[in-house]
Amino acid sequence: MKPHVLFCPAGLAHTNGPSHPESPERLQTLSALFSRLASEGTVSLSSIPAGKDLSLYDGPHHRYYLDMLASLNDSPRSPRRLDPDTAFSSATMTAILSTASALSLLIEACRNEGGNFFLAERPPGHHALPDRAMGFCIVNHAAALAWHLRRLHPESRIAVLDFDVHHGNGTEAILRGLGQILFISTHQYPFYPGTGSGRENTDGRKGEGILDIPLQEGTDDDWYRTILDETVFPRLERFQPTFLIVSAGFDAHREDPLGGLLLTEEIYHEIGERLCTLGCPFIASVLEGGYNLSALSRSVEAYLRGLNGPDSSLSRFRQS
Ligand SMILES: [Zn+2]
Repeated sequence: MKPHVLFCPAGLAHTNGPSHPESPERLQTLSALFSRLASEGTVSLSSIPAGKDLSLYDGPHHRYYLDMLASLNDSPRSPRRLDPDTAFSSATMTAILSTASALSLLIEACRNEGGNFFLAERPPGHHALPDRAMGFCIVNHAAALAWHLRRLHPESRIAVLDFDVHHGNGTEAILRGLGQILFISTHQYPFYPGTGSGRENTDGRKGEGILDIPLQEGTDDDWYRTILDETVFPRLERFQPTFLIVSAGFDAHREDPLGGLLLTEEIYHEIGERLCTLGCPFIASVLEGGYNLSALSRSVEAYLRGLNGPDSSLSRFRQS
């Protein structure tokens, strides 16, 4: 199924300050990639304008937190720091309003025929907690989408797979305890944000619950593939999701400056390819981390080609 990229250009104006790894250049680099892939027919591409309100984040996040963001947006003192690593300005608010628009498109797609989407946005979301920003993240896109799909389609089964190098602690905090949701996170551990040891895992009768898979520093493609084969995909196959949401962070790549894992773009291609085999009519991948611009671009390309299905050439991602 050809991926449809929802590109949020407003994310280009959000900045955390000079020399920050979560930079506008990340989205700029991906913009060039998406144009190329769209021109060759590998993806379709839409540019998403900013919406008018944050109501889609109301529920997964506390109202008082969203009100606080709105009041900061009205304040002349800008930008502000929401945590030591995360800045907020009026440009940030516009970026978040753009992701809210993209979320409403994704929710609409679930009412219709489904589809295969890649949401390219900044700031990322998976560390954002119900009541606060954390680790470059301000609002949680993947969790908000799952939360609303849960509300609108109470019979559905929703899986969230997070393969960022960091534990998706915010997503887990928002979704834990909601019925018929499976959250899987593979991540380096011990590592930021300190959670995700696996001790709080749960496994319901049909596979719903929490599956945190901590990985040692230095984990490579071969070991990660074993984890996919023996743990991640068996659980997804048992759960049989109606809707699949992917927190797609690419900072587990061996060239990433923040993470300590040794994955390559080959594994991202495989993940994309294998997700298609689940037969899920709706897949929404949401960009999270990935801080080496070249590795990010190559990894996103590999993943999108994988999502195109098993016919796309894997050979170009094999290392010589
Ligand atoms: Zn990350």
